[in-house]
Amino acid sequence: MTSLTLSAPAKINLFLDITGRRPDGYHTISGIMQAISLCDTVTLTLTPVADGEDPRYTLTCTNPELPTDGKNLAFRAAVAFFEATGTGNTHLHMHIEKRIPAAAGMAGGSTNAAAVLKGLNALMDHPLTQEALCRVGLTLGADVPFCVKGGAQITEGVGEILTPCASLPPCHLVVACAGEGVSTPAAYKKLDEMYGSFDGTVYTPRSDMLASQLEALKKGDIGRAGEYAYNIFESAVLPTHSKAGYIKRTLEDGGAVWAMMSGSGPSVFGVFADEDAARATVDSLRNQDIPAWVCEPMGI
Ligand code: ATP
Repeated sequence: MTSLTLSAPAKINLFLDITGRRPDGYHTISGIMQAISLCDTVTLTLTPVADGEDPRYTLTCTNPELPTDGKNLAFRAAVAFFEATGTGNTHLHMHIEKRIPAAAGMAGGSTNAAAVLKGLNALMDHPLTQEALCRVGLTLGADVPFCVKGGAQITEGVGEILTPCASLPPCHLVVACAGEGVSTPAAYKKLDEMYGSFDGTVYTPRSDMLASQLEALKKGDIGRAGEYAYNIFESAVLPTHSKAGYIKRTLEDGGAVWAMMSGSGPSVFGVFADEDAARATVDSLRNQDIPAWVCEPMGI
């Protein structure tokens, strides 16, 4: 029996814009993703297959609301890895200790899939390069390649074109999430209705703002990075998710230098320079039964 335990970090979007739509209907994006220290833990255990036995892949998860069969992205990642490498003649048990809220815009499923890809690659003595892992990851979801690479990355295409960039400088992040999860496809549909399906007539992507935010990150200037922070999904989600708007205001009132929704929401993060203010804001949110955590940006 061989086991490996990996951290699977969540992500936040420091910038998220839509640049258009491909003929196949997928939206192309332009933005910055940042890995954070709020993590799930994924443990992989391999057991040899005895003569005449078929390999068994099983999964357990501490969040009873998530699927444990082939619908779980971690499970699908294992199958995709074994298909790509021909190394599936082993029993595999995956256990996910879940801390990242599901369907919250923090890539909870994608980061579990990336951890399985990286973990199996390590256990099998690295048959795939990091780029090949990203290619397999992209067949599972647009955020998986980022989760394979981590750190801070400029994200383009449907999420598969990644360029490393400066991380948020050391700071304290408060991440909070309340209410119904947001379906990412439903959020894209709402944006299509608002912005003419991104055919170039109604909406102009904010590429200058992205360049300015990258510059601010390079200089380590948290405040200026906030001046240029943008998430197009806020315009579709905040009007109907009053709790996300309330959390954003609470983070700002609690002393965040800036706050924004992550991905398609409804999770919201606040960037704090002061740790005490961050901790006090988490206490205040938790006292209102709103799940909240203090964490930090993670480099590569
Ligand atoms: P993203 O930010 O990449 O759009 P998200 O945070 O909005 O992702 P996830 O947490 O990845 O969304 O979950 C989306 C859906 O995927 C959920 O409805 C959930 O049932 C399903 N899912 C499958 N596997 C997992 C997993 N291992 N962890 C979390 N969700 C999973």
